[in-house]
Amino acid sequence: MSENNVGCSCQSGAPIQLNDLVKEPTNTNISAPSTSPKAEGDKETNWYLPYMNAITEGKEVEEKKSPVALFYCAGASNVGQSTVTGCVETAGILGYNRVALLCLASISAGLKNMFNGAKNARGIVAVDGCPMSCAKRTLEKAELKVDQHLIVSKDLDVPKNFRISDAGAIKQVTNALVQAVLSID
Ligand code: SF4
Repeated sequence: MSENNVGCSCQSGAPIQLNDLVKEPTNTNISAPSTSPKAEGDKETNWYLPYMNAITEGKEVEEKKSPVALFYCAGASNVGQSTVTGCVETAGILGYNRVALLCLASISAGLKNMFNGAKNARGIVAVDGCPMSCAKRTLEKAELKVDQHLIVSKDLDVPKNFRISDAGAIKQVTNALVQAVLSID
């Protein structure tokens, strides 16, 4: 694969040249709908990513109500990994009409579609494994407002270790995230 191609599953269609994407955001407004607005998205699918890809590329879309964006630190520890699975479980419970999982690394990389997705979300929830708060700091560095912030080791009293898979922590994170999303919803 070419070094300049972005082949992440976050992107729809053919790989996009990195130089085309890493730009300062210029337009964070959702374009006018081509047909009547549709209230419902696909609650089983993380549809918000391809939707924002289309908007960022200037394509016409049917307007949909934005979900709450979830960002997770995905750290290499039990608490860090619990943020990933906890977010996936939360989407399974609430549905992708209410939550969208967005990639934190894309914000660091300056990808326009993900920035636009975060900017136009109904709200942002950041979940971090420990007080280093990598997700929250990354979002704030990009000037994105975090509405709810959860620190697994602090707020849920889960001791940080490096066994990676921690079913108890995942359950606690899921419960807390559902409440966080509903507080914005
Ligand atoms: S917040 Fe903590 S667990 Fe998460 S990536 Fe940063 S250092 Fe790792």
